[in-house]
This record gives sequence, C-alpha cells and structure tokens, in this order.
Amino acid sequence: KILREDFMNALEEVKPAFGIASEEFEQCSANGIIEFSPSVYELLQKAHLFVEQVQQSSRSPLVSLLLHGSSGSGKTALAATIAQRNSYPFVKLVSPESMIGLTESQRISAITKIFNDSYKSPLSLIVVDDIERLLEWVPIGARFSNSVLQTLLVLIKKQPPKGRRLLIIGTTSEREVLAQMDMASAFSNEIYVENIGTLDAMQAVVQHSGLFDEQCDYDRLFANLHEYLETRPFSIGIKKLLLLVETARQDPDKHSRFMNEIRALC
Ligand code: ATP
Ligand code: MG
Repeated sequence: KILREDFMNALEEVKPAFGIASEEFEQCSANGIIEFSPSVYELLQKAHLFVEQVQQSSRSPLVSLLLHGSSGSGKTALAATIAQRNSYPFVKLVSPESMIGLTESQRISAITKIFNDSYKSPLSLIVVDDIERLLEWVPIGARFSNSVLQTLLVLIKKQPPKGRRLLIIGTTSEREVLAQMDMASAFSNEIYVENIGTLDAMQAVVQHSGLFDEQCDYDRLFANLHEYLETRPFSIGIKKLLLLVETARQDPDKHSRFMNEIRALC
C-alpha cells in the first residue's frame, strides 16, 4: 500500500532534470539571514514580488534585478536566499569562485552555457554574483574583460525563447562602475542593500549571535555601545559585524574586545 507519506517522500527524491545548485546557495547564506532592521524584510518581500511576477505574468518572461550595496552588506547571502526560497525548477549561480582558473573564453562559454541551459526550463532563476569580479574589473587602470562584459550585457537583456521565463539576480559592490559600462541599466530593477547604521540594528545582530549567556551582559554592552555611538554616525557591513562578534567570542573578555573593535572602526 502506498501512503501519502511515501508519495511525498518520492516527490522529495525526484530531482529536477536541470541544475539546482542548492549546495552552492546554502554555502552563500550559511550564517542565515538576521532581520536586523525592517529593511531586510522589505528587501526580501520586494524580491519575492519579482519571483512571483516571472512565475505568474505571461507578459514578463524576463525580469532582472540588481542588488547593489557596499562590500560585505550581505548581497550574496540575500541573492542566495531569494534563490532558495522559491520553487523554480532551474536555479543556478554564476560566481567568480566558480570561474577560478578558467581562461577568458572558457568563462564566456561557462556563462553562456548556464543561460542556454536555463532556456530549456520553463521557469529559471540565475544569480550572477559579484559582477565586477566576474568582469575581472580592477580599479587600478580601470581594467576589465570587455568580452565577458559584452557577453553578460547580451545575455542579461536577451528574451528567453517563447514559453520560457527567466529571473536574473545580479549583485555588485560597484554600481557606479557598472553604470559606466551600461551594465547597471541592463537590469530592469535595482534594490539597494543597506549597511548597518543604527544602534538598534547592531544590537539585533549581537543579540542574535548568542555572544553572551546572560541578558545582563548584553545590556551592559548595549549601554556602552549606546554611549559610544550616540555621537558617531557609523555604517558597517553585516559581514564585518558578524566577523567582529566571532573575534570577540574568542576573547576571554568578550565585552572589552567587542568595544575595542568597534572603537577601531567607528
Ligand atoms: P561581498 O561584497 O564581499 O561580496 P556581500 O555583500 O556579498 O559581500 P555576503 O557574502 O552575503 O556579503 O555576507 C553576508 C553575511 O552575513 C553572510 O554570512 C550572511 O549569512 C550573513 N547575514 C546575516 N544576516 C544577514 C542579512 N540580513 N542580510 C545579509 N546577510 C546576512
Ligand atoms: Mg558577495
């Protein structure tokens, strides 16, 4: 006898025919997403609307979204989270990490292949992570790979074949540079990923991290942070703040260590 449970298990086991790069995406957001401010939830909500738009509206078979913000503001983790939280049968990550050791022409083939594969699936999502690094852009002498740029420009704007739908999510820490390359305008939508710039947000992250065992230790730290940061505008990426918490965790005197690290930064 086949129980409903068996049926559900079987569904779980059937992997879609084309690439679901779930492990890659899990790695990108291994530390999870902390909702340290309303902006985090709002961003995910907005992105989810695009996910639904591509899924439901036959009039928008191609939607692209650029997540931009400072280095370490959480763009990759957010893009990976959006990619994981949907039921698209084809989800792929194009990242500089996956291109290590490839020549320029191999990079172009690899990127083109992912897009061509996506055209075989009715509904696809491609994350193009860290675009300036994919282009091997370097600030000194403003060098970059023009062939990779041209390839990406074409692919990001290319309508998928009839009946196919595609959502592209790009990330960059260099929005201005991409704008000069006409790359930013190739995306139909943009969302700015904010840094942490309020005490509330910082407290939410520290509290979430489980740095201390006792609430009174948090309260003491937050009181000190409040006093120090009250007169100092600050802006710190979530990546850096989490690293800072981990540094403090290793120190026997977590409180002082955290405060010292903050003083060095802000
Ligand atoms: P880079 O500019 O170096 O590419 P990035 O902007 O892509 O950095 P991530 O690599 O995504 O930043 O790093 C963000 C880290 O913070 C991840 O480890 C992620 O799990 C964690 N994180 C926790 N909360 C959030 C959040 N609300 N938004 C984004 N990342 C978060
Ligand atoms: Mg990144």
